[in-house]
Amino acid sequence: TDTRVTVIGLGLMGQALSRAFLKAGHPTTVWNRTAAKADRLVAEGALLAPTFGDALKASPLTIVCVTDYPALRELLATTDADLAGTTLVNLTSGDSAQARETARWAEERGARYLDGAIMAVPPVIGTADAVILHSGPESDFEAHKPVLEALGTVSYLGADHGLASLYDVAGLAMMWSVLNAWLQGTAMLRTAGVDAATYAPFARQIAAGVAEWLPGYAEQIDNGSFPAEVSALETDARAMDHLIEESEALGVNAELPKLIKAMAARSIAAGHGAEQYPVLIEEFSKPHEG
Ligand code: NDP
Repeated sequence: TDTRVTVIGLGLMGQALSRAFLKAGHPTTVWNRTAAKADRLVAEGALLAPTFGDALKASPLTIVCVTDYPALRELLATTDADLAGTTLVNLTSGDSAQARETARWAEERGARYLDGAIMAVPPVIGTADAVILHSGPESDFEAHKPVLEALGTVSYLGADHGLASLYDVAGLAMMWSVLNAWLQGTAMLRTAGVDAATYAPFARQIAAGVAEWLPGYAEQIDNGSFPAEVSALETDARAMDHLIEESEALGVNAELPKLIKAMAARSIAAGHGAEQYPVLIEEFSKPHEG
């Protein structure tokens, strides 16, 4: 099988991607707007294509990883290349609409297109810790999976090209929520002389414990039925008041607890007080008016 691969965009991430392909033994062609960034890779065995169009032609599979979608569009606008037969895997970060639009653009020009999201930093690329999400036609993912696997743990999400970006931002929501909750607790405990390192293992245990609830709560959301099996939203809302009052009394920031309480209060006002916490999905699923 043909394991040639092209990497376009040799920033911190593109260089790491190229290096992982080289290490896995794939003949790797590279191209970057600023050609000098290819020097080290060429010394390590990569082939530098003279033009963007040549880079596309050099391999059946081309990975693109540039700053953002406007940069990608600027780059693609420089080519009138016939993309027929090419498979583009775009690992540039962006939103789902940009991914879908670029998929249309590429497919109109005869390319096969997968959109991807890299959930890792450059130093772990090429190890199992590098999770890379893909969406688009499954047959294209399967056809190139053996080559893509050189980059890390690759997974396929579905045919909708926007899915990789959506999972990417959903992951950000999770990451910042966990971190912010931890920072809130740390700020409170520090007023009592408990340092961050002392609280961290305790916080970690709570986060892991709460994570265990997700599959069961997801079932409630998917069924659209929220019986209060362990606790009613009203009970949670009273605990939210404790968190707000304690934060204020200690002189730490209470914005986040107040925001959480405001959402719960709206849900209770809409008649959901006796239901379970995940009924808040209804608040999360519409824009905030106010
Ligand atoms: P860098 O800033 O290191 O590299 C940016 C790359 O984009 C360079 O190759 C640059 O070329 C190229 N570029 C920018 N504008 C243009 C343009 N108009 N035409 C052609 N090429 C252009 O960024 P990273 O490599 O770190 O990030 C690349 C992508 O990977 C981003 O979307 C980022 O969100 C994503 N990513 C990065 C992670 C990280 O930890 N670094 C983690 C997860 C995702 P030139 O060298 O000529 O300037």
